[in-house]
Amino acid sequence: MADTADMADTADTADTADTAAPDIPATPDTPTAPDSSVNAAAPDTPADTAAPDTPAGPATAAGPMLWSGWGDPARAAGLPGPVRTLLQDILGVRAPGTPAVGLDEVRLPAPALPAGVLAALESVVGAGNARSGDEARVRHTRGKSTPDLMRMRAGDGSDAPDAVLLPGSHDEVLELLRICAAHRVAVVPFGGGTSVVGGLTPAREGHAGVVALDLARMNRLVSVDAESMVAELEPGLRGPQAEELLAAHGLTLGHFPQSFEYATLGGFAAARSSGQASAGYGRFDDMVVGMTVATPRGTLDLGRAPKSAAGPDLRQVVLGSEGAFGVITSLRLRVRRAPQARIYEGWRFGSFSAGTAALRRLAQDGPLPTVLRLSDETETMVGLAKPGELAESGGLSSGAGCLVIAGYEGTPEEAAERRDRAAAVLTGLGGTCLGTGPGDSWAHGRYSAPYLRDSLLAAGATVETLETAGFWSGLPRLYDAVRLALHGALGSPLVMCHISHVYGTGASLYFTVVTAQSGDPLAQWEAAKRSASEAIIAAGGTISHHHGVGRDHRDAYAAEIGELGVEILRGIKERLDPEGILNPGVLIP
Ligand SMILES: Cc1cc2nc3c(=O)[nH]c(=O)nc-3n(C[C@H](O)[C@H](O)[C@H](O)COP(=O)(O)OP(=O)(O)OC[C@H]3O[C@@H](n4cnc5c(N)ncnc54)[C@H](O)[C@@H]3O)c2cc1C
Repeated sequence: MADTADMADTADTADTADTAAPDIPATPDTPTAPDSSVNAAAPDTPADTAAPDTPAGPATAAGPMLWSGWGDPARAAGLPGPVRTLLQDILGVRAPGTPAVGLDEVRLPAPALPAGVLAALESVVGAGNARSGDEARVRHTRGKSTPDLMRMRAGDGSDAPDAVLLPGSHDEVLELLRICAAHRVAVVPFGGGTSVVGGLTPAREGHAGVVALDLARMNRLVSVDAESMVAELEPGLRGPQAEELLAAHGLTLGHFPQSFEYATLGGFAAARSSGQASAGYGRFDDMVVGMTVATPRGTLDLGRAPKSAAGPDLRQVVLGSEGAFGVITSLRLRVRRAPQARIYEGWRFGSFSAGTAALRRLAQDGPLPTVLRLSDETETMVGLAKPGELAESGGLSSGAGCLVIAGYEGTPEEAAERRDRAAAVLTGLGGTCLGTGPGDSWAHGRYSAPYLRDSLLAAGATVETLETAGFWSGLPRLYDAVRLALHGALGSPLVMCHISHVYGTGASLYFTVVTAQSGDPLAQWEAAKRSASEAIIAAGGTISHHHGVGRDHRDAYAAEIGELGVEILRGIKERLDPEGILNPGVLIP
C-alpha cells in the first residue's frame, strides 16, 4: 500500500478533530567529510529473520515485524470510536473477521531443498546464516498486501521458502546464485518484506526448492563522497538505519515512504519506490546514480557519471526489476543536506478539482513544496473524523472541502521563503490556510496508518490500497473510472483518494478502499482489484506509480507494454538468468 493513510490518521487525529494523512523525520545539519570511507553500520542481526527475534540496527529501527500483520506488535492500534461508527453505520459491518492463527499453526509445505544443496549454501554464508526452521520460513512468506495478510491470518503458508539465507557480501551472493542455478533452486531476494504486489511470492513449479535471500546483513554505509553528494550504501539497510548513518554526515536521502520503518534500500530500488516527500527529493529511482548487481551470469556495475550519452541507461533495466534480473548488492545514491527546518501546513480547497488545479499550478510553475498532497472529499471527511456526516451526504460532503498538506524543508530562510511564495499561489487559487496544526498532525501520524489495517481485518472490514498515475488532462477520468469500478464490484465501499506525487505532466492517484467483508473476503477483494485494474488500463493510467508489478500486476503490465515489450523483458531475463531461478513468476509476463 503506501498510505492506508487516512483511516489510521483518523485514529491519530480523532480526538483533536484535526486532519489526516502520514509522513517525514528529522536529522541535524553537520558538515560532511570528503570521500570518507565510513563503514559505520548496524549490527549484523537481521530483524526479521527467524530465531531469536532480535531487532537489528540503530535505535530508530523498528522492532521485528508482526508475521501476520504490519509492524511492531507492541504498537498495535485499536479502532477509535469514529472508525467503529463508520464500520457499522456506513459500511454495515456486523460480524468480526476470522481471528489470526498462531505462528505455530501456519501450514508449511514440506521442505523440498535437498540436504546436500542446503549444506553447500550454508557453507557460503556460514552457520547461523542459513535457516530452515519454521519461524524463519513463516517470516519470509509473501509480503504485506491485504490478501497476503488474509492468507497468513488463515494459516496458509503454502508460499513459504524452504530456507532463508543471509549473505554478508556481494561475493557470497554471487556464489549462492551459482549454486542455486546449478541445482535449479528458485531465489527470492528479500529486503524488508513489505511488497504489496506479490513480489515475494515465487512460482515453485519446476524448481528443486525455494530460498529467500534476506539481505539484512548487508547493511553498511560504505562511503560518502561529500563533494559529489553521493553515498554508497548496502541494500539491506532499512529506511531509519540509512537515515541514521547519513545523519552523522549531515545528509539525508529524503526518501520516506509509509513503509519507511521496515523497507530497505534494495527494495526501494527494485520496486521503484516513491516517498511522501517526492516533490522535494524525487522518487527513489531518481536518486540512484550507480549500482552493483549480482546475477547468475556475473556482476553488473552500472553508473559511472552523473549523466551519460553512452547508449541506453542499463540502470533503468535493473530499477523496477523486482529481483527477476539480479540481486542489487550496492547502491550509489544522490544525497542531500539534511534540512534544518520543516514547515508543514494544511490548506482547504472547496473541491477535489479545485485542489487538483492548485497542485498542478505548483508542479508546473512552482514553487514546489517538499511535500504536497491533496485528499479528496471523502478522505478529508474521514480524516476529520466525521463519519456521521459521510452517511448523511452519501459519501461526499462539500462542507469539509478537500485537504492539502504542503510541507517545506531546507534552511529556515529557504523553507520560509518557499512557503510564502507557495502560499500566495494557493491563496490566489482559492485555498484557505489552516495553519500548521493539520500539517504537524499529518507528520506525527505518518507511519501509524498501516497498524489500523490489522484491527480492521479483525473487526470484519477489508481495507486495501491501490494506486496509479496519469497525465493531468486524463486525471479526472482516471479518478472516476477507478471509483466506479470499485463501487461496481463492492456495492457500497468507502473509497478515499489522494494525490501525493506530482510532476509537471501529471500526478499519482492513491485509493484506499474499506468494505464490509463477505463470506469469502479474499475472493471479494480479488474481484474488486481486477475490476479496478481493468478500469485503470482502460482509462489510460499506469498499473502502478510506485508499488511495482510483482505477480499481482503482471497481466496489466503486459497490456501496458505490449507483446514486443514483453519479448524484450523475456530476452533480458534469459540472458541474465538462463536457468530462470530469480523470483520466478514475478514481474515477467
Ligand atoms: C504499509 C505499507 C506502506 C507502503 N508505503 C509505500 C510508500 O509510501 N511508497 C512506496 O513506494 N511503497 C510503499 N509500500 C510498498 C513497499 O514498501 C515498497 O515496494 C518497498 O520498496 C519495498 O521494499 P522492501 O525492502 O520491503 O522490499 P521487499 O518487499 O522485500 O521486496 C520487494 C521486491 O524487490 C525485490 N528485492 C528486494 N530487495 C532486492 C535487492 N537487493 N535486489 C534485487 N531485488 C530485490 C524482491 O524480490 C521483491 O520482488 C508500502 C507497503 C506497505 C506494506
